[in-house]
Amino acid sequence: MPTVTLITGGNGGLGIALATAFLQAAPDNVVWLGVRNRRNKAEALAEEHPKRCHLIPLNVTVDTEWTAAISEILSASGRLDVLVNNAGHHEDALLATMSDAIWQDVLQSNLTGTFLGCRAVVKHMMGQRFGRIINISSLSALMAPAGQTNYAAAKAGIIGLTQSFAKEVARAGITVNAVCPGYIETDALVQMSPEERRAAAMRVPMRRLGKPEEVAAAVLFLASPSAAYITGAALKIDGGIL
Ligand code: NAD
Repeated sequence: MPTVTLITGGNGGLGIALATAFLQAAPDNVVWLGVRNRRNKAEALAEEHPKRCHLIPLNVTVDTEWTAAISEILSASGRLDVLVNNAGHHEDALLATMSDAIWQDVLQSNLTGTFLGCRAVVKHMMGQRFGRIINISSLSALMAPAGQTNYAAAKAGIIGLTQSFAKEVARAGITVNAVCPGYIETDALVQMSPEERRAAAMRVPMRRLGKPEEVAAAVLFLASPSAAYITGAALKIDGGIL
């Protein structure tokens, strides 16, 4: 069955890889890319897949933007099968010097954005008795490094939200899962110097960083009919770090 999928943070490295995987999985699959301020990569992908890949403005921290986006998707595509809560960012600092603004910002984009997304789609998915929600957490949720109290708390919160929400909607044919990527080659790692990248790779038993396509493959599986009995899970994708 062709699927209609919404991917938030759709202009990012993982967002583009996720969209590409869903578009390649079946010729009739439709993907909506939620974009905030930057949209260059998302626009390029939409041009490659006319009528199947669309952009939609969506700051995931703003409830009214969720309402508008879901209503536009439903009137254009008629249904929404898969939501990937992928938008997020990290802004690292030691707790002793972390400002309220940085704490709030990271909690908002990662955790509140995921909550608002789940709430925005649940009624529709319950009505169609089918839905797949995949929340992008992080290895930092399971093994928090120093300097990431905000990001680790937000991403660990996503796992708690996923487990609890999965139980609430299991009987309605909706699955809710989280994935926890380790070091993945995207813009999120641009702040790392070449030495830091080498050091990061040395911490990975596979001795390399992950590719966005490797995370996308797992998300595609969790969205597929084959994963119907998997819900409330948190799948780490980290080359064996943990
Ligand atoms: P990225 O920086 O390339 O993309 C993140 C995207 O999220 C960007 O397009 C950004 O604009 C968007 N975004 C941030 N805040 C937003 C908001 N409030 N509303 C809408 N969009 C917003 O990074 P990525 O690696 O593609 O990250 C995707 C997800 O994967 C993030 O949640 C990130 O925390 C998670 N993650 C990444 C890694 C990694 O190593 N790259 C590891 C673990 C988890």
